[in-house]
Amino acid sequence: MAGQEAVQKFCAYCGSDGPFSREHIWPRGIIKRVPDYDARYFGNPDKVLSAEHTIRDVCTACNNGVLSELDAYGCRLFDDYFHLTDTRGAPVHFRYDFDLILRWLLKISYNASRSVGIYTEYLQRCVPYILGAEDTIKDVWLLAVLVEPVTGIIRGVYDELPPYGVRAARVETAEDVPLPFIVRLVAVNAFYFLLVITKDGEAANFALAKRLLPGKQVPRTRRSVWLRPSGLDTRDVWLGHMVDKDHLYREHFARRRSKSGEGLVSADLAATRSSRPERHPFQPHTSRDTGNRSRER
Ligand SMILES: [Zn+2]
Repeated sequence: MAGQEAVQKFCAYCGSDGPFSREHIWPRGIIKRVPDYDARYFGNPDKVLSAEHTIRDVCTACNNGVLSELDAYGCRLFDDYFHLTDTRGAPVHFRYDFDLILRWLLKISYNASRSVGIYTEYLQRCVPYILGAEDTIKDVWLLAVLVEPVTGIIRGVYDELPPYGVRAARVETAEDVPLPFIVRLVAVNAFYFLLVITKDGEAANFALAKRLLPGKQVPRTRRSVWLRPSGLDTRDVWLGHMVDKDHLYREHFARRRSKSGEGLVSADLAATRSSRPERHPFQPHTSRDTGNRSRER
């Protein structure tokens, strides 16, 4: 049929014409490690769902091959570091393989950007590096921020809000000033990574990025870095999204309650126990929250 012929697609990584499999924006291994993260925000469409974020334009060979090797590294980092949701006690001596972590973060970011169709062109040029076909990538930098839990009353309801869950989003650093780079956020629990990617044809200007953004550089020439509390907490990085999308989360939990009859889901149980509303884990595709904070600094 003509309709079927029109859908000719190619793998977003290697360009092959398939076969395709469903690629998870967030690796299964990571999702399994944050089991209470079950209300996910989708930028396109603007919805909160229990479903996992997946995309269907990745071929089986890429999915089961090089991309799953990167996921294995990400899961190892989770077990060593990213499981932390409270890093206030002591600085973290974060050991890393620069190329593996950067490729993994770029992969998640590229997947997320394709799912909403924003910034895809800037991440596309990272593909040979993500696949390991190129050894290095120029004009891409990595910053790490440890986000702290908020304690105290937040919006009159929460008394503690730890950084729990995963996020992949774009970061807007300033509204009216065109910058020579884009900034992407990939966050796992307390670890917020900012990817600074120079736009095509623009001169690299990492000094400007460092001035505008919070966080410590994760240098490509080293194998470890000391990360200390950044002063940013969950209120700084979530509140914008909480206020913007509150109704979507509430609808989501109400929908789930009515579907499951009297069966309570984990978030509701937590709410019942503490007489508080559901805790909202976030994965926004816009993060004015982080952006606003960046402007203040
Ligand atoms: Zn492929």
